[in-house]
Amino acid sequence: MTIIRGATTLTRDCKEEMQSAVEALLNEIFQTNGLKKGEVKGFLFSLTTDIHSYHPAKAARECGYDFAPLFAAIEPEIEGALPLCVRLMLFTDLNDERTVKHIYQKGAKILRKDISEVLNIALDGPAGSGKSTIAKVLAKDYNILYLDTGAMYRACGLKALRSGIDPKNVQEVEKMLPNLDVKVEYKDGKQHTILDGEDVSTAIRENAVSMAASNISSHRAVREKMVEMQREIGTKMSCVLDGRDIGSTV
Ligand code: C5P
Repeated sequence: MTIIRGATTLTRDCKEEMQSAVEALLNEIFQTNGLKKGEVKGFLFSLTTDIHSYHPAKAARECGYDFAPLFAAIEPEIEGALPLCVRLMLFTDLNDERTVKHIYQKGAKILRKDISEVLNIALDGPAGSGKSTIAKVLAKDYNILYLDTGAMYRACGLKALRSGIDPKNVQEVEKMLPNLDVKVEYKDGKQHTILDGEDVSTAIRENAVSMAASNISSHRAVREKMVEMQREIGTKMSCVLDGRDIGSTV
């Protein structure tokens, strides 16, 4: 038994999109692998929870792929999953796993970033060199997250300002650190920066916070705490990271 994998995405949740996407995916899998009907033992589709319009197994049957059992299941909802995605495991009686080609169409390159191997891309470079622009393009292309590490320093700076602490004062900043609760969350592929349970994604963009972030980021204890958090995020999920220290330290 050899399994061929495939995945595709819909641009809209509608019957016609499902029919054409499933047909294109199956056609390419069969052509690329030179598959014959008799070699296929079953089709197992899965779909993300945002698809309601049509059943992929039905779409497959309607375009002639009706010669083996077909089944479709809904995947559990997972934050950051590729939207409107249909995945497939095709069970065959081919006997050489190394020669089969898995097919990913329409941006469905990564099988499922939460369960596939973790990929981290680090970008170093001076301020203003275009790191974040490139990072965002790469994240989109690889369908992984862009971890904005600057936002974490900004949240740290904001905490100091809100607590009446001078971000330049190393003793006061160090005293604040054990109570610093910064998290990043991802909703619809966008990073939200959470400080003490509050979403501060907008507040951290204020000028006063930029200054505070810049000052606070110079303290070793702050950097150590941020680096630890960034490493933890990077080990759990695929992401592109940019900023000072990223390639060298994080
Ligand atoms: O990139 P951004 O302007 O949002 O970063 C805010 C501040 O955090 C900057 O002053 C930068 O020096 C600091 N920073 C850092 N290390 C990083 C990212 C940002 O020291 N990896």
